[in-house]
Amino acid sequence: MPERKEEQLVLRLKDELIVAGQRLWQRQLLGGRDGNISVRLDGALYLITASGVSKGFMGRDDILLVDDKGRVREAAAGRQPSVESGMHIAVLQRNPAIGCVLHAHPVYATAFALSGADLNACAPEALQLNLGYVPTLPYAPAGSQELAQQTAQALQTHCAVLLARHGAVTCGENITQALLRMETLEQAAKTAYIGKRLCAQE
Ligand SMILES: [Zn+2]
Repeated sequence: MPERKEEQLVLRLKDELIVAGQRLWQRQLLGGRDGNISVRLDGALYLITASGVSKGFMGRDDILLVDDKGRVREAAAGRQPSVESGMHIAVLQRNPAIGCVLHAHPVYATAFALSGADLNACAPEALQLNLGYVPTLPYAPAGSQELAQQTAQALQTHCAVLLARHGAVTCGENITQALLRMETLEQAAKTAYIGKRLCAQE
């Protein structure tokens, strides 16, 4: 019954993506219809969130099955894959150890990506211990090939990156690891920001 097993895996991963989306939204790591999440299935198939849906209110129909060429293999009526699907597929293709890619716009981490200030230079020790060095990638337009390729390359040696003027991407072996890394990144950025403000007042 291999098909049945595969179907069960798809449903389980869809449900995990739904819960991850709710947590991202509740923790204000993204707002509106922002952000996107993908997860690797067996072979060259991936699940990815649909374009234009709030990650806080997703159902199973808001998650599509795509292949490594970006072709949609399974989708509910009217659903299109995320505009950043090229980036997700590039990361997953180039890095076989990565099982999940998560892109969000957490306020403090994105503020560092906007200002160009080096988060690593002022973050609490937990950032370095848990995520290592977090580079800020040069600006590339959302949804572009350039953004996809430079993110895929950076995530070969890093587990979190900031995208200039845009947001953040984390990856992990699974959904939970990618999610916790995004939380750690934002927590560190928020603490770093407040710490800098306090120092400036002294
Ligand atoms: Zn974005």
